[in-house]
Amino acid sequence: IDWWSHSSLQGYAPICLGLEDFYIRRLYLRIQDCFNRPISSPPDSWFDVVERVSKDNNKTLQRTKNVSRCLNLGSYNYLGFAAADEYCTPRVIESLKRFSPSTCSTRVDGGTTTLHTKLEQCVARFVGKPASVVFGMGYVTNSAILPVLIGKGGLIISDSLNHNSIVNGARGSGATVRVFQHNTPSHLEKVLREQIADGQPRTHRPWKKIFVLVEGIYSMEGELCKLPEIVAVCKKYKAYVYLDEAHSIGRQPFCPSPLCELLGVDTADVDVMMGTFTKSFGSCGGYIAGSEELIQYLKYACPAHLYATSISPPAAQQIISSIEVILGEDGSSRGARKIARIRENSNFFRSELQKMGFEVLGDNDSPVMPVMLYNPSKIPAFSRECLKRNVAVVTVAFPATPLLLARARICISAAHTREDLVKALEVISSVGDLVGSRVAKFSHMAF
Ligand code: PMP
Repeated sequence: IDWWSHSSLQGYAPICLGLEDFYIRRLYLRIQDCFNRPISSPPDSWFDVVERVSKDNNKTLQRTKNVSRCLNLGSYNYLGFAAADEYCTPRVIESLKRFSPSTCSTRVDGGTTTLHTKLEQCVARFVGKPASVVFGMGYVTNSAILPVLIGKGGLIISDSLNHNSIVNGARGSGATVRVFQHNTPSHLEKVLREQIADGQPRTHRPWKKIFVLVEGIYSMEGELCKLPEIVAVCKKYKAYVYLDEAHSIGRQPFCPSPLCELLGVDTADVDVMMGTFTKSFGSCGGYIAGSEELIQYLKYACPAHLYATSISPPAAQQIISSIEVILGEDGSSRGARKIARIRENSNFFRSELQKMGFEVLGDNDSPVMPVMLYNPSKIPAFSRECLKRNVAVVTVAFPATPLLLARARICISAAHTREDLVKALEVISSVGDLVGSRVAKFSHMAF
């Protein structure tokens, strides 16, 4: 606790998701609990409060305390739809007037407006599936749907780096859970082979159902899923594919699933498509898309659909409108330009970081760029020094990553201009020198 109050541990970038903000605080609470008496409270920058979301599509960040306006490299606002948009915002305001902020009702008890049915049709059309069902929260979509899709007697095989909402859903399902090495189809096959004999029909196996759970773009790794190979393994062993497209949805015009299109996978081979509206669409909520029968079943069987208040109408309208823009149905080419822009921005930023000697994880075309710092103690300094120079980055450490694989996780948006990116690169370059994180490949072994 003395360590906590040491001045060098205070005043870190409020956006920093590092040890001092979360992990140590948790330890502090545990100690307080053990001794059953309050001890001096650490400053709580983990749940720091943002005064407002910036007007410029979340491209910049304005916080309370002493932090001035800064370039936001931490937001999931991939296409710049968050906050004001010339097409979406007037429609959202109109929907607010017409439907109010909340239906205050569950979907089955008067909470399904015309907007909700339009949204579900719109999402299904967008991802290339016959039907979809939407939920008020992306996290809940995973954690509430998985227990309905698969239960006791079923087998879940989950990528080792899947998001916590998937992990929680899998754990809560009562199914047997096995984990395969991150994005490694050969290991997935090995795990499957251990569980079933090759080619056994679905009805003659020790499992009622087998689901393989993967993400489109891994949010801490910036990597695209090896979907074609994973789908091939699942077909061979007759396992269902569940794809979380939280970070990959909405980034390809005129095509069903952006990731399927990009990787040449037939959407029909992905049995359950999940995604969130909190990234590319600048809204909130999540969806499941699949066959008519599947969606119908989920609508009747999922408690989160039956007993939770329906998604807020203005949030629903924001999603519909942003999809219309992406598909060019607003009569402009803005959507196509946004998509070209995010790809251009991401590939430019990634290659510049690599040229500067940073170790950057992930694939081309991915707007998520983890810059490896390895040693978790570098995290506070990295984010603080960036913030001092008016650039906000999210830094991530254990438990979100393995203990010695701490990183700064940069998210690029179509709303960033080339000048923004050049400025950010200059800042990251000088902070990288200060913190010693360039050419970091083996530097973690030196501390
Ligand atoms: N799935 C993945 C892969 C995610 O990264 C997230 C959150 N970033 C979620 C689900 C939960 O989505 P939401 O934040 O919209 O609740």
